[in-house]
Amino acid sequence: MLVVMARRPRRQVWLGAALACIGSVAAAAADHDTIPPVTACDRLHQESSAAMRVSEAQSRPAAGGMAAHCEVIAYLDERTGAEGQKLAIGLHLRLPEAWNGRFVFQGQGGTDGVLGSGDAQPGGGQPTALNQGYATVTTDAGHSNAPGPLGGASFGLDPQARIDFGYRADDAVTRQAKRFIQAYYGRLPKYSYFLGCSNGGRHGMVITQRFPEHFDGVAAGAPAFRMPEKGLSGAAVTQGFAAIAPKAPDGRPILAQALSQADMDLLSRAIVQSCDEADGLADGIIDNVPACRFSPRALQCAAEKTASCLSAAQVGALENYFQGPTTAQGRRIYAPYPYDAGIATEGWRRWILGTAPDSRVNAFNVSFGATLAYLYMTPPHVPLANDADAVYDFYRTVDVTEAHARIFGTSAAMPQSSVQTISANSVDLSTFRQRRGKLLLYHGVSDPTFSALDTLDWYKRLTDAAGGEKETADFARLFLVPGMNHCAGGPATDSFDVLTPLVAWVEQGRAPERIDARAGAKTPWPDRSRPLCPYPRQARYLGQGSIEQAANFSCAVP
Ligand code: CA
Repeated sequence: MLVVMARRPRRQVWLGAALACIGSVAAAAADHDTIPPVTACDRLHQESSAAMRVSEAQSRPAAGGMAAHCEVIAYLDERTGAEGQKLAIGLHLRLPEAWNGRFVFQGQGGTDGVLGSGDAQPGGGQPTALNQGYATVTTDAGHSNAPGPLGGASFGLDPQARIDFGYRADDAVTRQAKRFIQAYYGRLPKYSYFLGCSNGGRHGMVITQRFPEHFDGVAAGAPAFRMPEKGLSGAAVTQGFAAIAPKAPDGRPILAQALSQADMDLLSRAIVQSCDEADGLADGIIDNVPACRFSPRALQCAAEKTASCLSAAQVGALENYFQGPTTAQGRRIYAPYPYDAGIATEGWRRWILGTAPDSRVNAFNVSFGATLAYLYMTPPHVPLANDADAVYDFYRTVDVTEAHARIFGTSAAMPQSSVQTISANSVDLSTFRQRRGKLLLYHGVSDPTFSALDTLDWYKRLTDAAGGEKETADFARLFLVPGMNHCAGGPATDSFDVLTPLVAWVEQGRAPERIDARAGAKTPWPDRSRPLCPYPRQARYLGQGSIEQAANFSCAVP
């Protein structure tokens, strides 16, 4: 009952405004009306309090491709952290002069720590949410990244900063942003949305699980909802590839050479050959993900390594990655990864192997070494030199079984543990569902860092918890994006707008049956479009017309 009551005042505000303006309660008609401010932007300085410093509240005329708006920067709960560092939850809010009555929170990637522009990118080449009339906000999630490879992780030494990054900033920033909106326009937003990919996708899942009353719609891409598991598993993956890499003169492995580009192209071609047509169309896109049963052993050299085969060591390291590394006791640390067409692209290599020609590795995966040491382990593994080589050496030598016990053993029950603060693995979304919240998940099948199969596994667990496929599809849908790497890239139709379908779902009850997406300029087929389909449905060619056009495909149950 409390849930329903909490929602009612917002509905009434919206209905009242719509009636007053146009004499109709039709949401579509109300879209054309905008709400002007009721106060001057700089008066928002008056919102400052002991708990919040408003550092900026300034009217911005339309410029630089940004619509006219009131820009607010504020810091909540400024304090000195456990290591003497200055900490606060930064908030960056933009309030358009012509407001559409809605609010978008843009979650950020990495480990936050940067106060981004926050004008919210909905994707698909659409204008920013700000330019569409939304009030937008973003946050640094409670810390500023310091210089060096440890800079984005060292906040983990402060237990409160872990909590702020994990979830508290999502709550605090949302509440404060809505207070600013109320002060500036004289009313609360009629609808609130959250957008984010990667760590931003994790924040989206956090919101549906921990703060289910704040948002009406959440779009979560490639969600980092099991970040500690992935960070540790990535160490085992790196160790597997480092073990087969040629050695530099300094004795350390040249990670980028564990597999050459030609090796990865060979693997990708074999996967496509094996799995592409399982969806009925040989188009370079593997739509039938569950049906793809590939093994790199099919490519293993009978004798010497040649250009047309992979060495037994390479096959072993690839299996370690794709199947998902295990502890010494045989327990899988994270998730398996799907065999897909997008693993030979730059967007895969730069995460897993990097491109460095020597032992100074530049693979993004190694950035997890810093977060593993300072953020996922409780207590943290310190000290670690703030130096890329030191972080790499830690990551490629850490005992993953021991680290697993440290992360998921007794310390997991501690309030500052990464399991308690960062993970967003619950499938109890009952409050979010009860108040008619909508969750739109998407994940690139060739994502090398967070596995699409892990998100799919979560979605299946959600389906079990929610009482079935149909019941779940009423409030949560997962769109797999074949070929796409982490949030974008790869031989994929990776350009799509998530905000428009989410708004239609929330405000008009039109659930997204498909999301049409376009291919990027770097793909083999830059003019291609495809429907992205809600799991378990998959894109199927209708048998007539160009295979480059989404209109000639349906979303079908395989
Ligand atoms: Ca296909």
